[in-house]
Amino acid sequence: MLKEPKIVLVSNRGSYTLKEIDGKIEAVPAISGLVSAVEPVLKEKGGVWVAWGGREAAAPETPGVRLNVPPENPAYLFCEVPLTGDEIRRYYHGFTNGALWPLCHYFLEKCRYSNSEWLAYRQVNFKFALAALAETGPQDIVWVNDYHLALVPGIIRRHKPGLKQAFFWHIPFPHYDLFATLPWARAILRGLLGSDVIGFHLPDYSYNFLHAVNKLLEAPVDYNTFTIRWQGRKIFTPAWPMGIDYEAFQKLACDPKIRKQAEELRRQIGTERIALAVERLDYTKGILERLLAFERFLEEAPEWRGRVSLLQIAVPSRTAVPAYQQLRSQVEEAVGRINGRFSEGNYRPVHYFWRGIPRQELVSYYLAADIMMVTPLRDGLNLVAKEYVASRVDGTGVLILSRFAGAARDLKEAVIINPYDIEGTVVALKAALAMPVSQQKQRLRKLQEQVRRFDVRWWLANFQRALQEREVKEEDAVRRHLRVSSFSTLPSTSFIDA
Ligand code: UDP
Repeated sequence: MLKEPKIVLVSNRGSYTLKEIDGKIEAVPAISGLVSAVEPVLKEKGGVWVAWGGREAAAPETPGVRLNVPPENPAYLFCEVPLTGDEIRRYYHGFTNGALWPLCHYFLEKCRYSNSEWLAYRQVNFKFALAALAETGPQDIVWVNDYHLALVPGIIRRHKPGLKQAFFWHIPFPHYDLFATLPWARAILRGLLGSDVIGFHLPDYSYNFLHAVNKLLEAPVDYNTFTIRWQGRKIFTPAWPMGIDYEAFQKLACDPKIRKQAEELRRQIGTERIALAVERLDYTKGILERLLAFERFLEEAPEWRGRVSLLQIAVPSRTAVPAYQQLRSQVEEAVGRINGRFSEGNYRPVHYFWRGIPRQELVSYYLAADIMMVTPLRDGLNLVAKEYVASRVDGTGVLILSRFAGAARDLKEAVIINPYDIEGTVVALKAALAMPVSQQKQRLRKLQEQVRRFDVRWWLANFQRALQEREVKEEDAVRRHLRVSSFSTLPSTSFIDA
């Protein structure tokens, strides 16, 4: 019988953060949407997760640790890609979060295009690719995740042309006009085209990608079937929005301990109604615009003063990047101003927390919130919106959702707003507060049906199926790539051109 192919998952951060304490490595479980989505598969089927462990290596050649995880019940291998302080600064804070992130979220004015940071990005992508190649047998499947590692599939394809590869791009893929401003746009596209399947959250992102490939690489693309012809291979670029573990959220939301925490939270806040916002402190999330809208709402609707609070969780994120430091001061200044203007007695309009909340506890926040405000200026998808929907087991609650969040494409029963339109957001907030319970339930039922059907299992199964059904054109691919023979040393800088 044929052995089932092993999955080699590659992503910037993985399921564990590594810490060295008194010379011993401690692996602390990491929280992220990707971890909750794919770790269960690795736990069930085994495999390898290749990722940076979040710590600073002393030298570029420092060997990474390999750990069987979870430590208490080992099921798969965690394979660390060590990064030095300089690599973290130039690759991570630099190119990925100072160029690709703002570019893909349409913040062109925040993009910094630096050649030195691009070189670090390329170098680090080689590191990841070599680490993945070392773990991969000829029948295995490599699954690379996100914009940090766009060059990895191309490098792997050059070294092992026959390997099955999938990629998922978790953020928006911008329109060609914007993407073409990146001096290394072609290299990014060529790197991604090393994959057999390149998934996006939305058809619009796939179209943008196809358009960019067609214009910049002059490759034939088919917008109807989401396919690209490239170097003798047919590459599939489907739109599969990531789902959540719906059942797990429902189960947590029924847990008496978590329900008690929710009641306690409501008691502490003390107002008749609670509006909640939860996100990383990121300029894409529209936190300032939301605060302005809440301030305007309190000005315009004095009858709600003292009766409704905004609970804002801002998770510290990319704190070394100046744009994030600046945003934090602006947000905290706005919170201070609103609370200064409208606090009275025990009433505090905005309850602001600059910290992350563990997943389980987060469900108690979802349960405590009458209204969930997910109002990003641009967001690839937004899992928090889906998690709120899944957690509302009593069928009440209103989701206010930005039209610029990828999730808005499917969550049509939410109250959809334009976060740039402050007045419009105020109107939506008033409508949400006035919405009869019967209408809340009607909308939520439809939202829950959507989130339940297209859950994380649906998302994963799409990839598995696509890779199984892949048309193998290996002979062609092998012929084209024979010129590269070994991966034991880092290729020269002309290996990937811009
Ligand atoms: N999250 C969390 N604790 C927090 C805030 C967020 O565990 O305090 C989780 C949240 O449950 C969600 C993920 O982080 O699964 C955030 O994903 P999303 O797509 O909403 O935004 P991103 O941070 O990926 O831009």
